[in-house]
Amino acid sequence: MNNNFDVLIAGAGFAGGVCARSLAEKGRRVLVAERRSHIGGNAYDCTDSAGVLIHQYGPHIFHTNNKQVFEFLSRFTQWRRYQHKVIANLPRDNPEVVPAHKTTDGRFFFPVPFNLDSLKNAFGAKEGERLGKKLLDAYPAQSQVTILELRQNPDPEIAAIADYVYEHVFVHYTMKQWGQTPEEIDPNTTARVPVRLSDDGRYFQDAYQGMPLHGYTALFEAMLDHPNIEVRLNTDARPLMKDFAGDVIYTGPVDELFDFKFGPLPYRTLDFQFETKQADQFQAAGTVNYTVDEEFTRITEFKILTGQKRPGVTTIMKEYSRAYTGAENEIPYYAIINPENNALYSKYQEEAAKMPQLHLLGRLAEYKYYNMDAIAARSLELAAQL
Ligand code: FAD
Ligand code: UDP
Repeated sequence: MNNNFDVLIAGAGFAGGVCARSLAEKGRRVLVAERRSHIGGNAYDCTDSAGVLIHQYGPHIFHTNNKQVFEFLSRFTQWRRYQHKVIANLPRDNPEVVPAHKTTDGRFFFPVPFNLDSLKNAFGAKEGERLGKKLLDAYPAQSQVTILELRQNPDPEIAAIADYVYEHVFVHYTMKQWGQTPEEIDPNTTARVPVRLSDDGRYFQDAYQGMPLHGYTALFEAMLDHPNIEVRLNTDARPLMKDFAGDVIYTGPVDELFDFKFGPLPYRTLDFQFETKQADQFQAAGTVNYTVDEEFTRITEFKILTGQKRPGVTTIMKEYSRAYTGAENEIPYYAIINPENNALYSKYQEEAAKMPQLHLLGRLAEYKYYNMDAIAARSLELAAQL
């Protein structure tokens, strides 16, 4: 039966889905085996019992500067124009400072990434303005700087701002998310959320941003709907790989593929707590980060992302991060990028390289921190190469 196919793809997430479609259009017959009961990988969305469209595996907002990726995906969906905003919600630790914007219950808010507007909220309008000018003397307007770079600045007032941002945005959140300090984790991770020398309050600044108009699952349904593609759900691809003669694209965890022979690759996993509220809207932004206190890292309200109109009811999700143990039903979400883990990954990579028809692709198989657009770009590249 498997001889009917030229390519076997393990996994129907962004890596597997984009690759399958791209190869199918080049005339290859593709079998996609997905061990979950649905397509879409971690981008999968569905309607909950309250009728709200939710993201089962964490909030996914599409953003890219890659025109080719945007145009490819736009063949399978229309987009809702949406620019994601994130605010930090934290306790007021200095009652003498009057935040420039609203405040409730001894707490206050500012935009994340931390920007010139955040500065006014954190230090009061007048002092925030003065400190903003100070930063603009040191860095070009509209530019951005990572927190680790900002902390290197020798000017005592800028160093004090850097300490403030480190304490109120990064250190506690990063400890919750990674169990390590910002210095201990891969610097590219905190660099995803820089300090901005502008008032731009959007989370992403990419040229193309939005949400698939009818959701990610609908996008995947359209993408995988091709006469050269067969999708088998609830199917582990590994047994099929054993006697498959053609190219195999594997998008699952690479350590599992080789029976953990060099030991397990470390990951962080997440526990999601969904709550349905009897209200039109729960919070002021799509995502609110609890950067100083609380056990969870952030709360996302799906209706704000998707634009779904559903009066009187809204679903939110709290994210709790912890070490992945490999227990059944746990999902490895974030690779923990560091030299030691990269070295372990290389051993598996060398093992895979002994099999010329095996291609490792995706967040898990490549042990990388990929956004959806980046893995889509890589998948188009691999499909072209094959
Ligand atoms: P996955 O989506 O994990 O897909 C892999 C698939 O392979 C899974 O469905 C799995 O069941 C299947 N599989 C594994 N092993 C086997 C096997 N042996 N046989 C058959 N099937 C198998 N990116 C953004 O661009 N924007 C965001 O806002 C964003 N938010 C995120 C939020 C969270 C909490 C997380 C964790 C990630 C977020 N991402 C976001 C990243 C995004 O999820 C990834 O880029 C994307 O899911 C990667 O796709 P993938 O196909 O590599 O992996
Ligand atoms: N981060 C932080 N405070 C924030 C937002 C992010 O410390 O309010 C750090 C944290 O280490 C996080 C990283 O920046 O893991 C990247 O954040 P991003 O929102 O890109 O993470 P993701 O959405 O991928 O979980």
